[in-house]
Amino acid sequence: MLDYLIIGFGLSGLSFTETALQKGKSCFVIDSEKNYSSRVAPGLYNPVILKRFSVAWKADEQLDYINYFYQNLEKQFAKRYYFPLPIYRKLFSVEEQNNWFVAADHPILSSFLSPQLITHKINHIDAPYDFGEVLHSGYLDVNQLLNDYTEELKNKSIYRQEVFDYFYLEQGAEGISYKGIKAKQIIFCEGYGSINNPYFNYLPLDGAKGEVLLIHAPELDLQVILKTGIFIMPVGNHYYKVGSTYHFDDKTVLPTEAAKNELIEKLQEVINCPFQLIEHNAGIRPTTRDRRPFVGVHPKYKDMYILNGLGTRGVMIGPYVAKHLFDFIENQTELPLEMDIKRLKKYTYPL
Ligand SMILES: Cc1cc2nc3c(=O)[nH]c(=O)nc-3n(C[C@H](O)[C@H](O)[C@H](O)COP(=O)(O)OP(=O)(O)OC[C@H]3O[C@@H](n4cnc5c(N)ncnc54)[C@H](O)[C@@H]3O)c2cc1C
Repeated sequence: MLDYLIIGFGLSGLSFTETALQKGKSCFVIDSEKNYSSRVAPGLYNPVILKRFSVAWKADEQLDYINYFYQNLEKQFAKRYYFPLPIYRKLFSVEEQNNWFVAADHPILSSFLSPQLITHKINHIDAPYDFGEVLHSGYLDVNQLLNDYTEELKNKSIYRQEVFDYFYLEQGAEGISYKGIKAKQIIFCEGYGSINNPYFNYLPLDGAKGEVLLIHAPELDLQVILKTGIFIMPVGNHYYKVGSTYHFDDKTVLPTEAAKNELIEKLQEVINCPFQLIEHNAGIRPTTRDRRPFVGVHPKYKDMYILNGLGTRGVMIGPYVAKHLFDFIENQTELPLEMDIKRLKKYTYPL
């Protein structure tokens, strides 16, 4: 009997699988390879919520952990996925400059915001009020990491591309079985796909559609991540990811003309050189109302777990919550209530 059957292989599925395999557990992964958010995500990680000048939830702990987690994967695959890179926040007025100084002086924010403004000029970007610099930020090449990891799982014959059919899931006295696969536990890491999961769709998972562009701008030589109303993130050879939009009504993963135009208009306000649109993608972020993940055991079925609700910050939150869930299952450590689905008392599974 396997230790874990894992359904869904985006950032949450990868985080849990890697955590379990590292601890010598046996896993099998099923993923439908469609409607994922992780493969659309540019993979930025940023410990600061710049709009509100506040530190993101548990950012300190998460940064320490992802440094270890992703660098360890780089060693395993002998490839780079994790790119520490500062974020330059373009400032638009003297008042914004002053706000930056105040925030950078704040004891909680001071380790993440540089007190010195960046005054040097960047070609093709007009910035009369300079830039504020965010430290300990960067990006993860999520798509490449998922591709390489999936290949590895296929080589070990522990991965199957399939839409998981809940009808065939059986609960035994010890563990679960699904189409001949027997496991002690099943972990659902389905992102927004969880709305179709009859065991967990009682939870109030929202979804925020996001769209992102890949452009080529041969004259632009940006070596940092630039943040204005949008972000522009260099991925090499003058290619840049530009994003992201937020829309709450449309739950399809179809790229839209409206979002494309929105991003292009904003981009043209920031850079003044030609660029070519290369790619345009869309996905649904698995967001929650209280902006905390959904982690925990099913209220009725003790071998069934969820790892979801990574929201807008899957790169930072994924490995962190996967470790908490793993310790909860294997070492009986308590889950922090903030992430535990038990906190959602209003929402109950029809027992
Ligand atoms: C445009 C955009 C930009 C973003 N930018 C960033 C960013 O810069 N930084 C950041 O940290 N986060 C970003 N995010 C958020 C990030 O993508 C999510 O937090 C994260 O990817 C969620 O991971 P997940 O594994 O929970 O879900 P997903 O990546 O959606 O993965 C779920 C997987 O489950 C599979 N699945 C679902 N149901 C089934 C089923 N029944 N059977 C089999 N398989 C199933 C799906 O195929 C999918 O592969 C962005 C998201 C979007 C859309």
